[in-house]
Amino acid sequence: MKKIYVATFGCQQNEADSETILGIAGTQGFVPVSTPEEADLILYNTCAVREHAELKALSTTGQLKHLKEKNKDLKIGLCGCMIQQEHRKEDIKNKYPYVDFVFGTNMISRLPEILETVYREKKRRFFVEDYADNPGAITEGLPVCRRYPYKAYVSIMYGCNNFCTYCVVPYVRGRERSREKDAVVAEVRRLVENGTKDITLLGQNVNSYGKDLSTPVTFAALLRELAEIPGDFVLRFMTSHPKDATSELIDTIAACPKCERHFHLPLQSGSDEILKRMNRHYTREKYLALTRELKEKIPGVSLTTDVIIGFPGETDANFEDTMKVLEEVRFDGVFSFIYSPRKGTPAEKFPDRVPEEISRARMARLLETQLAIQTENNEKFIGKTLTALCEGPSKNDPAFLSARSEEGKLIHFPAGNGGREGEFVKIKIRSAKAIMLIGEETV
Ligand code: SAH
Ligand code: SF4
Repeated sequence: MKKIYVATFGCQQNEADSETILGIAGTQGFVPVSTPEEADLILYNTCAVREHAELKALSTTGQLKHLKEKNKDLKIGLCGCMIQQEHRKEDIKNKYPYVDFVFGTNMISRLPEILETVYREKKRRFFVEDYADNPGAITEGLPVCRRYPYKAYVSIMYGCNNFCTYCVVPYVRGRERSREKDAVVAEVRRLVENGTKDITLLGQNVNSYGKDLSTPVTFAALLRELAEIPGDFVLRFMTSHPKDATSELIDTIAACPKCERHFHLPLQSGSDEILKRMNRHYTREKYLALTRELKEKIPGVSLTTDVIIGFPGETDANFEDTMKVLEEVRFDGVFSFIYSPRKGTPAEKFPDRVPEEISRARMARLLETQLAIQTENNEKFIGKTLTALCEGPSKNDPAFLSARSEEGKLIHFPAGNGGREGEFVKIKIRSAKAIMLIGEETV
């Protein structure tokens, strides 16, 4: 038995891929371990969405040099979005000689053959195919080693066709391709039968799911079919692109007791001028109309978003437009990112880069306003009872358990006798902070 250590950087898609990597490695005789020091094989599943994520992956890789010096038989591999870029693959080749192999995002199903080659041959190997030459097939039925028994990620599609001008994802993940509806339904059915209570459907743009299938289906139709699976479970999904959110989808979620009452709907910017240059295909007014429809049809819906600060050419007035949307929509969470130029994307060449200190000041203002809005939103839950899935001990205080509500809210409650992980609990909310609710279990 060989020991494998996998670390994941970046988004839920990478988390899901790492679970498949561990599943496949398991069939090849590898058992997972929790520290790189114990491992015979170390794999880093990297992210490329911002420079910060790449620098983190590279510096963590740098720390492996001493392990390799101590153990010459140790194999080190990198995979994921970062190494799917030609220039990063070359960096690894030239500056990280202790990395034995890399493999691209479209090569996971070929891991058995990759590992066999790496162990048989004594030389370094770089298994990366450009998506231009290989649109990326879907392999069904790969083994998955899931991290949690009670919650699971299910990829329903891969890749992205949108080419937002700042984003590297379409280049490193290839074109949009959906899994067959029946394959997704069968997987979710199996998970629910085995006791999974929390299913998150993953895709870069779940709202365009199914358009590419030989018999096209909508994401709403998929949700309706999944919601009919018998059992006690919640269906979550991300990410929704505003340009493809339909009334059919909103009506479906409104009528679906198993669907979470939460939408992560990335805004990116509240300025029409910036949205146009981002190639987002919606206007501020269309976005606002969508949030109004969501709030009207799904009472109590929780809305979260992503915002990019300091996109090239963003003026104070453009940023104020974003702030106005935040104040109008009153999101339950905003993930804000300072624009990071990505090699090969159109925005990398756009003029008028925003100086870092201006972006930082804008970010600080956004956070201050947003935290006040979130606190106010959360205070509305005081005295109410929410149903939530218990996710085990709180990371900050083991005297508390964490749970995630149907609105996607994080709740802490006293652990009591413990042992509630993976169960639905009812919690009466006693107090609220910007990022969580605090309450106690009730019947
Ligand atoms: N497919 C998803 C998001 C993928 S990336 C969507 O379209 O919403 C996650 C988030 O990272 C994006 O929503 C965006 O806010 C941010 N992001 C992507 N590229 C970025 C860049 N170059 N600089 C800063 N933030 C970026
Ligand atoms: Fe990137 Fe835009 Fe695709 Fe999201 S929709 S992954 S931001 S290109």
